[in-house]
Amino acid sequence: MNRIFSYFTLGAIIVLSTALGNHAKAENEASYFEANHGFNLGLNEMVDLSEIEGFERVRSTADLARFASKVPGAVGFTAHPSFESGQHRFASAVLWYSHLSPSNMSWRLYLFDEKEAKKQPGEAATEEALAAAEAQISDKLKTAKELIDGSGRRGVILHGDQKEKDIVARAVLQLSGTFQHTGEFGSNCAGCRLVVLGGTPARCGLGIQGKDHMNCCGSITKDGFCRFWELLLAREKAEQIRVRQ
Ligand SMILES: [Zn+2]
Ligand SMILES: [Zn+2]
Repeated sequence: MNRIFSYFTLGAIIVLSTALGNHAKAENEASYFEANHGFNLGLNEMVDLSEIEGFERVRSTADLARFASKVPGAVGFTAHPSFESGQHRFASAVLWYSHLSPSNMSWRLYLFDEKEAKKQPGEAATEEALAAAEAQISDKLKTAKELIDGSGRRGVILHGDQKEKDIVARAVLQLSGTFQHTGEFGSNCAGCRLVVLGGTPARCGLGIQGKDHMNCCGSITKDGFCRFWELLLAREKAEQIRVRQ
């Protein structure tokens, strides 16, 4: 009888402590860790938190953590550096990101998983993230093929928003396609080609002046393709390789 009772007691203690454990976990749901890395380059999937009801009450980073943790599939969140001051209320829940960049290359990244947060720039993203990125690129292979076929010898011009371009560009490169210098604002190889002295759509004005700059491959030859995406992906790879060595 005593033994039966003690088994029962033991069982009850286990059940009780499991319940307490779960309870504690529920309360800690919004614990978050500032990542040692950022999410620049690569592909990612985010949810704009400003589009979710209740965002106006979100003020602090801790609020953000609680709020973002309710987004299905979120692994963390990111926000404009002056979010807490109320100046720039831009914040997103992060569903996945395929490249771990230096932390100063993106807005600060906060993750719910401490182990992931401790990863250094260049370490491998989670398998889920890599698979999601691959799937996005695969989905665009048909579009990329059509763009390559339709662009003839001049190279592809990408359309759509930045996210679409990021994905399609990778698909084009997988199919060994090439890109055209466009010289358009808001596209790669942009304003520096049209507004900087010496620049033309095919020649980078800042390139002629020998100045490094963003969003342009810097090419100063009149012929040839835009190497912007190629250079971007090469940098992504270089960051990853540095870690493996
Ligand atoms: Zn340029
Ligand atoms: Zn270019």
